[in-house]
Amino acid sequence: MFYNRRHYRSLAHSCQIKQMPIIFVFLDGVGLAPTGPTNPLAVNPTPHLRALLGGPLTTEQARARPGLLLRPIDAALGVPGPPQSGTGHVALLAGINAPALHGRHQPNFPPVALRPLLAERSLFRRALAAGHSVAFANVFPPLFFEAVARRRIRPSASVLAAQAAGLPLRGLDELRAGQALSWDITGHALHARDEALDVPLIDPQQAGARLAALAHTHGLVFFECFMTDLAGHGRLGAQGPADAIARVDGLIGGLLDGMAPADTLLITSDHGNLEDGATTIHSEAPVPLLVVGPNALAFATVERIDQVADAVLGVL
Ligand SMILES: [Zn+2]
Repeated sequence: MFYNRRHYRSLAHSCQIKQMPIIFVFLDGVGLAPTGPTNPLAVNPTPHLRALLGGPLTTEQARARPGLLLRPIDAALGVPGPPQSGTGHVALLAGINAPALHGRHQPNFPPVALRPLLAERSLFRRALAAGHSVAFANVFPPLFFEAVARRRIRPSASVLAAQAAGLPLRGLDELRAGQALSWDITGHALHARDEALDVPLIDPQQAGARLAALAHTHGLVFFECFMTDLAGHGRLGAQGPADAIARVDGLIGGLLDGMAPADTLLITSDHGNLEDGATTIHSEAPVPLLVVGPNALAFATVERIDQVADAVLGVL
């Protein structure tokens, strides 16, 4: 059961509850497309999403009612070609039209020239400046920092934004304490690379419960999952899309079970990919903006991925 926003504001005031937390789950590479035999989101079982939406995470389920919003939002931002992660992450996290500023969609990592703007305008920095407690829930094990130091990988927009905002990155100690999550939700990726064999694997519902628990003590909880995009690119094998979808669905189930009445869950993406099983490249589909909780309708006017950060800050 959900109340409307005004009711919650008065409730929060009367009970001196200071926060209406937002749990922001960023799924890389998930578009919102019609149902059909080549849409893995329609073909694979997603019991938690179907219970929530009355059907799979497809265009047909778009709706806006108190407590539940699903709408397609634009990820191309007026720039030709399929959207890409580097500029898309900056658009989502900093609320700026990164591909237009950069002149094109850039894959993988943020354009260097946009990093100062990302640092200045990031959701993390602005939420902290407004006095909110922020949790970036992903775990970053020592091998991550070694790979960055050796220039084998470059830091993502989220890591750059967190570091610029002075927001701590969680490590293996937090993961062991149940206060962080692997980017693949369950931790199998850490085991596969021998990074954290002593850390038990968790099921996706436990992962969702973990994120919900972080909202008890933080106004903004952020988690990002790249498994969806890797699966869409075919890099996780033939079972990759089904596995990624099952994990995301379980994560959502655990979140919905664990969330407090004042919590709002927001799920969105940077570009399509996984929803188009006919190809392994990014699609030009819009992305889902799925919001569950008392502040769902506060996002009903968001039309593009570069409007998400400001809308989150407006609700916090
Ligand atoms: Zn991406």
